Formats: sequence, structure tokens, C-alpha cells
Amino acid sequence: MIIHMKSSHNKNDLDKIKNRIEELGCNAHIILGSEITTVSVLGETTKLSVKEFETYDGVEFVTRVSKPFKLCSIEGKQDGQKQTVIDVKGVKIGGGHFVSMAGPCAIESWERTLEIAKSVKASGAQFLRGGAFKPRSSPYSFQGLGEEGLQFMQKAGAETGLLTISEAMDSEGLRLCMEYVDVIQIGARNMQNFSFLKELGKVDKPILLKRGMSATIEEWLMSAEYILSGGNSKVILCERGIRSFDKQYSRNVLDLNVVPILKELTHLPVIIDPSHGTGHRHLVAPMAKASLACGADGIIVEVHNEPQKAMSDGPQALLPEDFEKLMKDIRKIQKALGNEEEESNVA
Ligand code: PEP
Ligand code: MN
Repeated sequence: MIIHMKSSHNKNDLDKIKNRIEELGCNAHIILGSEITTVSVLGETTKLSVKEFETYDGVEFVTRVSKPFKLCSIEGKQDGQKQTVIDVKGVKIGGGHFVSMAGPCAIESWERTLEIAKSVKASGAQFLRGGAFKPRSSPYSFQGLGEEGLQFMQKAGAETGLLTISEAMDSEGLRLCMEYVDVIQIGARNMQNFSFLKELGKVDKPILLKRGMSATIEEWLMSAEYILSGGNSKVILCERGIRSFDKQYSRNVLDLNVVPILKELTHLPVIIDPSHGTGHRHLVAPMAKASLACGADGIIVEVHNEPQKAMSDGPQALLPEDFEKLMKDIRKIQKALGNEEEESNVA
């Protein structure tokens, strides 16, 4: 249930509503917007009466959100806007501002990081991606450079003017990522690590939450709800492919259906990862372009200058020149869609 307040409401009105909500065994999540203030009622709300709350002073109207995700839902958007736009040092994510994140699967060395960063920047990316903590299926595979990898990312970001995104797998990784990168990635394997999601609700940095490889849309949104209800409103959803039965030609099934579905369900930005979604280099650009065409807010793509030597995910990495061509095509599609100007992050 969402209680929309009149612009003339006062603190006393909010206190009364909050007390009544708590008396009924629920929690109140109050967002004081510059224009619109809302109170989201969290918990078992089925027994609460819309009519009762409509009689309170300062209340404009009350809506019932029947879905289990409330803060993520369009109805639950706190400031009356349909979409969340996250501003990361001037680069906008969400609301039609298409963002491109690119870089290696894993940070491998300083030289390689810098070289890849320079190339993706020249092609028009806004973010350098790269893992310093790698969630590998085998404990014998390369696990990432750890803090040193994050330092390389930070330095490469500073030298090229790129923003940075990297994955945290646990509290210690989160602490380090908070220090070195601009956006924290939560991998598919951690999407339902609920105690970790609660920690992410307490940090002041955007979180890119990847969809678990067998998560339903509702499970994914409930995970986002953990972060939002903890107090962090900067959540970006990332579709990265779901598991299916046919491994022969594609690593995962990139579920682009989710883009229009999520646009109806949630105000959160939606980014597509066509690299993990397909697992094969030749499939990445077509699906990246499809992502833009179907309304996604951006892409996160693996790029490597020597994929045959990559320490992880070489077969799905684009070469720098492939990425350059992809970005040119993206600009053409933006033009065709008529959203290349103020809505684009691309210069
Ligand atoms: C990655 O981005 O390198 C990664 C491991 O992603 P995912 O969690 O989607 O598998
Ligand atoms: Mn990878």
C-alpha cells in the first residue's frame, strides 16, 4: 500500500500515519520528495484498509500495490517520476539515457587494463568493467587479483576518464569496492544472498544487480527490494541470461523479454549483458543492438585485446575493433529511434 501525501502535509500528519502503520504490525518507508511525499507500507498489508488511511489529515490518496515488490514497483516510485535515473558523476543511467560499460571479464594486469580502457573509451563507452574478485565454478581457476585489481581499475579510470564497475562477492570485497569503484556489481550467483543484500541496502553507491541464472522476474525484483528497503535507492537491474537445456550453441538464453516486462513493473534502470547472456563472441553485437532496440537502458560487454589469452571468458570477449563497430552501430540505432540527443550519454 502506498500513501500519497498532499503537498500541504506536515510532520505531525506523517507521525500519526507512521504510528498507526506500526500499530498494525507493518513498517512505514517515508520518502520526502521535493514535490511529492509518499509513505510505502511494508509487511503484511492485506488487512489494512485503504479507506481508513484516506481519512487521515494530509493524505491525498492511497493505492494498493498487490505485488510483493513495493519499492521497486512503478506505483512505489517515491517522487512521482516513472523511471529512476541514477547519476554517476554526470553519466545518467535509466530514463532512456543509454549507457555502455565495457572491459575485460577479469582484471589481469595493469598494462592490459589500461590498453583495454583506452580502446573502449575511444569507442564511446562511459564505464570500464572488470572483475577483481571472480566467482569461478572451479576453485582451481583464476580467482582475480583482488585489491590490486581494483587499484588498476581505479587508475585506468582516472587516466581515461571512464567510470568503473566491479563485482563484490562478500562483505570484505564490498568494503574494498566501495573504496575504488563507482558502481558495485552483484553477480548472478549472489542475487539471493539475502544477508549480503541487506548490507548493500546500507551503502551509498549504485548497485548493479544481476539476475540469478535461474531466478524468476519476481525473485529478482524481491532481491532488489531487499536493497531498496534497506535504504539504498540506487539499484540497476542487469539481465545476463538464464540457464536452459540447450548448451550447444549458446551458453545461456538472453531473456530480452524482460526489458518490456520490467518497464511495466518497475522504475529501475535495466541493463543487458549480452556477453554472459550468449557466451559466444559472434552473438554479442547482435544482442547488444537488440537490447537498445527493445528499450534497455544500457549494455555491459566484455572486451579483451587478446581473448585467446584471457584468464576468463575469452570466447565471449569482443575484440576492441568489434566493440568500436558495435558502438558505431549503436549510435546509428539511437539516431533511427530518434533518441540520440539529450537522452543519450554518447557524445
Ligand atoms: C561477470 O560479469 O564477469 C560475471 C561473472 O557475471 P555473472 O555474475 O553474470 O556470471
Ligand atoms: Mn565474465
